[in-house]
Amino acid sequence: MFTIETAATAAYVVAALLFILALAGLSKHETSRAGNSFGIAGMAVALVATIALALARHIEPLGLGLLIGATIIGAAIGLWRAKVVEMTGMPELIALLHSFVGLAAVLVGWNGYLHVEGDATGAEAAHLATEGMLGIHSAEVVIGVFIGAVTFTGSIVANLKLSARIKSAPMMLPGKNFLNVGALVVFAALTVWFVIDPQLWLLIVVTVLALLLGWHLVASIGGGDMPVVVSMLNSYSGWAAAASGFLLSNDLLIVTGALVGSSGAYLSYIMCKAMNRSFISVIAGGFGIEAGPADDKDYGTHREIDADSAAELLASAHSVIITPGYGMAVAQAQYGVADLTRKLRDRGVNVRFGIHPVAGRLPGHMNVLLAEAKVPYDIVLEMDEINDDFGDTDVVLVIGANDTVNPAASEDPSSPIAGMPVLTVWNANHVIVFKRSMASGYAGVQNPLFFRENTQMLFGDAKDRVDAINAALSESVAAH
Ligand code: NDP
Repeated sequence: MFTIETAATAAYVVAALLFILALAGLSKHETSRAGNSFGIAGMAVALVATIALALARHIEPLGLGLLIGATIIGAAIGLWRAKVVEMTGMPELIALLHSFVGLAAVLVGWNGYLHVEGDATGAEAAHLATEGMLGIHSAEVVIGVFIGAVTFTGSIVANLKLSARIKSAPMMLPGKNFLNVGALVVFAALTVWFVIDPQLWLLIVVTVLALLLGWHLVASIGGGDMPVVVSMLNSYSGWAAAASGFLLSNDLLIVTGALVGSSGAYLSYIMCKAMNRSFISVIAGGFGIEAGPADDKDYGTHREIDADSAAELLASAHSVIITPGYGMAVAQAQYGVADLTRKLRDRGVNVRFGIHPVAGRLPGHMNVLLAEAKVPYDIVLEMDEINDDFGDTDVVLVIGANDTVNPAASEDPSSPIAGMPVLTVWNANHVIVFKRSMASGYAGVQNPLFFRENTQMLFGDAKDRVDAINAALSESVAAH
């Protein structure tokens, strides 16, 4: 027989399939738009089905009002934030959104406790106990609250670090590995206790413990590992949502949470491989990475170059590689860079781009900017595809990149970013670095590249400097 309940279940299956199609679409550049549309459609189906289900279950008018009001306000804020956010601000926005999922899981867990184990009449608890389900319910509550609270504070710290409101350097409490593992052991013991005897104070202790652990886990991770942390928190938020799904008996939430949880974990794993970090060490909050000594090494002096001389150098080159980074995004220099690429290619110079997997502030950041400025795809190469070619290159333009071209990563085992694969730009004949000062990059470490003999610094805003080179090149064409 057709009921709203069966229709909602069918709609949930459709939504789950749409979410799977969304993930499949997002895995390739060409299909990513379609993937996004599948995701939007899936979420719309899920929302309509959930509201219809609530109506069919004769939800109280106050509850219905809150549900619809929250949906409208949430959608309005979401639309507004998505419209105004800069590309460079995406990771911190994503981190903030993860914190909401974590907080929701904590609230759902607490709500589950107050309606069952903590309910003074004991009716619901007695009912579950006769079915042998009370222990399972208590486990769902405590696990959901734990994952949610870790995600909540962890995501807030990630947001604060990414938006530079707190220092990105890892916080190094004495015995920090012991603190993390100790917290997990205490949590496991308290979970068993809570399942046997679900007392309020135990849930309070677990909540506080998880809030502190989330904070400490992410605070202990250095800036260089932040991309992995963001995708790891994405994974945690998925598991938190799945835990809420169990408590609310909502199958779609379980499926969606598991999809987010596992795809986030897989993305973290791929990123760890790209950065040569151990997955376990990042997940465990920088486990095994100890603070290195402050870098007060004297690297000597650096040389400077001006835009006209850079233009001359480029005009006489046969091969040029451009390695963009976060500074190109800040300066919005991609259009000037695309123009420069056209000009040099018109002169017969072989121009290519080398893209580091974590250049900028989110995976694919540089590719999106270059595509937006219509740089041809076939000259935009991944780090692995181009790293062997720097030795045969006349000029490398490092445009607003820093950590991703830092030789210390491969040459100095004591460097905080040691082991991270980097673009080996220093092997080229000439390296020109576009930045505004000698300041360090995101990971807060000095870059010995700036002091190499074949490196020259071109100081100023990357967009202004690229425009100045373009103007000099145009003038030299006009003069001939
Ligand atoms: P970095 O963040 O290391 O350095 C960027 C450089 O750009 C700075 O040194 C800055 O120097 C310069 N810069 C900033 N604004 C301008 C401007 N307007 N004009 C010219 N230069 C400018 O960049 P990378 O891309 O090399 O490295 C990315 C870093 O971010 C890595 O540490 C990575 O781990 C981390 N990260 C990456 C994420 C990802 O998913 N891709 C997510 C989060 C973090 P100055 O101030 O002197 O101008």
